[in-house]
Amino acid sequence: NVREAGGDHIVSLSNATHKAINRKSIIEKRLLLALNQQNLKVFYQPQVDIHTGKVLAVEALVRWEDEEIGVVSPDELIPIAEETGLINNIGSFVIEEACQQAANWHKEGLDIKVTINLSVREFRDKNMAKFILSTLDKTNCPANLIQIEFTEKFALQAEAETSIIKQMRKLNDKGIVFILDDFGTGYASFRYMQLLPIEVLKIDQTFIHSLLQSEKTQRLIHGMVQFGKSMNLTVLAEGVETKEQQQLLAEYGCDAIQGYLISKPVPGAAISELIEESMNI
Ligand code: C2E
Ligand code: MG
Ligand code: MG
Ligand code: MG
Repeated sequence: NVREAGGDHIVSLSNATHKAINRKSIIEKRLLLALNQQNLKVFYQPQVDIHTGKVLAVEALVRWEDEEIGVVSPDELIPIAEETGLINNIGSFVIEEACQQAANWHKEGLDIKVTINLSVREFRDKNMAKFILSTLDKTNCPANLIQIEFTEKFALQAEAETSIIKQMRKLNDKGIVFILDDFGTGYASFRYMQLLPIEVLKIDQTFIHSLLQSEKTQRLIHGMVQFGKSMNLTVLAEGVETKEQQQLLAEYGCDAIQGYLISKPVPGAAISELIEESMNI
């Protein structure tokens, strides 16, 4: 039967592959243009204290709407950018935007920490730490206002690459906080807990979305929170969409939440309004 279906399959598969390759090369071309014309944007999503709702930090998330191909989500954009090397350009842009934004808020008297997502490929650039530090200098942004999110995949690779660990320590020594993103979905190796300067554990949203579905998941998440607390880490849950999720997480001892329940990612100006409103209450 494999043989019977074979002919059709091969044709449709190659069509699909063809389309994917086409889309990739279109995205690559348009992205290069967008970078040159500064058409990328950064949106910010608040991370708040689970009890008081006070904004502790905001996560910088890249946004791109191209006039020809429309909105390209980060989930599609980042892997292609990594393959083509354009991730370094996106990274530089996001780092500069984030530092400038944090510095502007700082000047207005609002100390809002800004979190940047960086992939392992970006950290392989031996000048990454230097670039971040010089951007802090250039924008007059205090180092303790910048945080870096990295994934478990990143952590696993960093273990084997001392130059990455050195760069992380250098930044950490200046006051930059590291957040382990998407915790629980990657390659759980506890060695990186020993090696890397992690201060915040961010539980992946896939766990949070299924939190109310089973007792097993509840025990699992409760355990993850307890693990983080026993390691003296701040525990942050991402993808929190309902009050029920927030309540359970608070019972477990989770420190902070991020998700649509609080706010979607929004432009920087909307963050200032959100914070000023919450201060007026
Ligand atoms: P992430 O760092 O885990 O970011 C969380 C993603 O979940 C964001 O998607 C955010 O918009 C979404 N999200 C937040 N709260 C909720 C919620 O309550 N419900 C649901 N369903 N989703 C929620 P986004 O912005 O599309 O980004 C996807 C991924 O792309 C990010 O995952 C991150 O890994 C990557 N990314 C985004 N911006 C950058 C960047 O500037 N540099 C790098 N290297 N990666 C980035
Ligand atoms: Mg993140
Ligand atoms: Mg995440
Ligand atoms: Mg994610």
